[in-house]
Amino acid sequence: MKINKKTGLLDECTQCPSPNRDTRPENTEIDLIVVHSISLPPGQYGGNAIECFFQNELDKNQHPYFEEICDMQVSSHVLIKCSGEIVKFVPLHERAWHAGQSNYQGRERCNDFSIGIELEGTDTDEFEDVQYRQLAQLVSSLRSSYPAITDNITGHSDIAPGRKTDPGTGFDWQKLNDYLGTHD
Ligand SMILES: [Zn+2]
Repeated sequence: MKINKKTGLLDECTQCPSPNRDTRPENTEIDLIVVHSISLPPGQYGGNAIECFFQNELDKNQHPYFEEICDMQVSSHVLIKCSGEIVKFVPLHERAWHAGQSNYQGRERCNDFSIGIELEGTDTDEFEDVQYRQLAQLVSSLRSSYPAITDNITGHSDIAPGRKTDPGTGFDWQKLNDYLGTHD
């Protein structure tokens, strides 16, 4: 997976630009990856509602849950769908709006210095093998482009405890590490 340093875009991905982004604070080094999970409506897979949500184009008439969330302005840099397809929303060098109020090892506002990766899923369902494979490949590319990341890979629930529960108990960190072992 190639990262274009100039545009901050991942080659060979579906590009789905989100307006929910801005510039990172000056001289910020990207040194954290935050793993999330999302499905819309929760527990339903395969549609394009996540893409619509991150582009502020969710149709609130399609589902009662959409009505609740349709005015939120959020995004992630990347989504890995259960098919393994990778969708790119925000250039990596820009700030995506995924972490909210958060704290990683004493540093607040994780959006400033992190890359947000959403996996299509829920807090309790198991993720697909292809998602772990894609995530491992992505993490390994990101580490080459942003060496300060090292082992700083965390879950949304770890940086926003009590407020967020994703990626959830269904996410197998050991499995990610096993796949990462085959890439490093
Ligand atoms: Zn999250």
